[in-house]
Amino acid sequence: MNAEIIAVGSELLTPTKVDTNSLWLTDQLNAAGIEVVQKAIAGDDRVRLAALIAGAVERSDLIILTGGLGPTEDDVTRDAVCQALGCEQHFHQFLCDAIAERFARMKRAMAENNKRQAFLIDGAEAIPNDRGTAPGQWIRLPSGKAIALLPGPPSELKGIWMAEIERRVRALAPPLAIATAHFRVAGMGESDLDQLIAPVYTPYTNPVTTILAAPGDVHIHLRARCPEAAEAQRLVDELGTKIRELLGDRIYSEDGADLETAVGRRLAALGATVSTAESMTGGLLGQRITSVPDSSTWFRGGLVTYTDEMKRTLLGIPADLLSRHSAVSQPVAIAMAQAARERTGATWALSITGYAGPSGDNVGLVFVGLAGPGFADARQLHLFGDRARIRNVAATLALDWLRKKLG
Ligand code: ATP
Ligand code: MG
Repeated sequence: MNAEIIAVGSELLTPTKVDTNSLWLTDQLNAAGIEVVQKAIAGDDRVRLAALIAGAVERSDLIILTGGLGPTEDDVTRDAVCQALGCEQHFHQFLCDAIAERFARMKRAMAENNKRQAFLIDGAEAIPNDRGTAPGQWIRLPSGKAIALLPGPPSELKGIWMAEIERRVRALAPPLAIATAHFRVAGMGESDLDQLIAPVYTPYTNPVTTILAAPGDVHIHLRARCPEAAEAQRLVDELGTKIRELLGDRIYSEDGADLETAVGRRLAALGATVSTAESMTGGLLGQRITSVPDSSTWFRGGLVTYTDEMKRTLLGIPADLLSRHSAVSQPVAIAMAQAARERTGATWALSITGYAGPSGDNVGLVFVGLAGPGFADARQLHLFGDRARIRNVAATLALDWLRKKLG
């Protein structure tokens, strides 16, 4: 079963107001086994909104509208639903009495225009709203589809959903079991990754595959829904196995853990430690490693050597190595990693040196060094993006190299 959400209110089309209701509703609908297939934000325009609703009724099984149920002329949701369905709305004294009672309880005078909120769409069920004046409305169409008109203020929306709407929605949807898988991949662009795995996941409509990307870090979510839990799990396992075969050790976690956590777990399991020597990232790599609880088990320390002088004095990088190759070079990255390893006694050491920009030549040229038992090497990277992205991706790729090296 699928659903469509329409958030109504011109203020939601301004640069300052965010439609948070639809995010909350999506979470609720997903939990009920309902997929949100389309969302829209509409201004307070009766004609446009009616057209949007008419389309939604064609496309989707359940349409949830939030907002625009208020007492003023610009609250057009009821009118637009009537126009879309070609039906009428009528004043109901019992609704008016309930609104008047609420005002009396709050010791406020009820304005004449609040009577607008006592209009019920023909065939709709009025849904009490404990936290506001506008009642919600629930409409079942002859086709079996349903439309919910819910208030815009988030607290009213949540109240009415929990008290009244959720069970109506769940009664519409056959109960489905959900099985999920979550793969995280570092060091691969979103489009490269998608190109690689799309042939495998596109034939599947169930599980649904979602790919979410942050710089240098991609999440692949699989979600299967079936009447039987075992069947949902079987489908996720089947597709998960195919994705695992394609991505191999590029997958660094399958339980949502971030890269620094995955690396930390691996080091801890091996009884190994790591240290850092950072130039361009100024401690960012150490910060990420130590963001993981218990990192004192595997992190020995880091040296932030930003200038050539600090590279000489703190790490003991020979002056002629620096002058011959420059601080941003493969030999210096290797020497930094080796020096950090020797000076801290760690099993492994990572180094980062590069140009983060934004000005200057060679922006994005980065060397990542790795030293360990019988091993020392450095990789040249060409990263793009702004300063923050270059620094962050460099730290990610350094961590990912160590992770792969640990096996
Ligand atoms: P009211 O009876 O208060 O007029 P309403 O149902 O007409 O309620 P709106 O007027 O559309 O709702 O919105 C009232 C307030 O609720 C808005 O000013 C806004 O702060 C909040 N709101 C409305 N829609 C959303 C949304 N989609 N996401 C987050 N907040 C919202
Ligand atoms: Mg309003």
